[in-house]
Amino acid sequence: MREIVIKITDNDKNTLKKIKRYLRYDQKYSIKLEIESKSNPNLSKIKEVVEAFNIKDIRERYSYIYDTVCTYLDNEFKKKKLCDFKNNQCIAVRNGFYCNSNHGCCYGPKRGKCKNLVNNKCKIKSISCKLFTCRYLKKNDIKFVIKDIPLLNLFFNYKQKYIISYSIFVDKKEILEKLIKSK
Ligand code: SF4
Ligand code: SF4
Repeated sequence: MREIVIKITDNDKNTLKKIKRYLRYDQKYSIKLEIESKSNPNLSKIKEVVEAFNIKDIRERYSYIYDTVCTYLDNEFKKKKLCDFKNNQCIAVRNGFYCNSNHGCCYGPKRGKCKNLVNNKCKIKSISCKLFTCRYLKKNDIKFVIKDIPLLNLFFNYKQKYIISYSIFVDKKEILEKLIKSK
């Protein structure tokens, strides 16, 4: 396997594009980063993409991507308090955008409380649920799109991106199987 060395400088905006060129031949190459600047704003995203690139087993690679993106999304919601629960009601419910519920969008007027919500915690890991933001958040420009998340944008084709977006209520294991079949 050939090793490609990629240097990270202060403002190199093309590193992800460079890596994308090698993705077609990903089983022939590995990537080594030479980090000359730690102030590159994309450094952590580049590191994650390189980590995924260097995992040659597809199941393992998808699992790494899945977990890394889920952690990123969990942290964004938590750090920025996007759903801003107060007295058990999220900001969308408090503003009348969602039905009166203590469970935010894990509750629907017709479907009721999601069966995966147990003791106020989701017992599965659905990347589609984690990517979802409701009408209220979207109205306030809070949304997550696949093209802005390099790990999802670079490693998956159109059909796989559809699966990632629309597998609400579906657990990691099942989504991974679908992604592998659609490679
Ligand atoms: S995404 Fe919207 S509806 Fe769902 S919990 Fe967050 S604020 Fe509430
Ligand atoms: S599967 Fe989705 S809707 Fe159901 S509890 Fe989990 S996050 Fe909520």
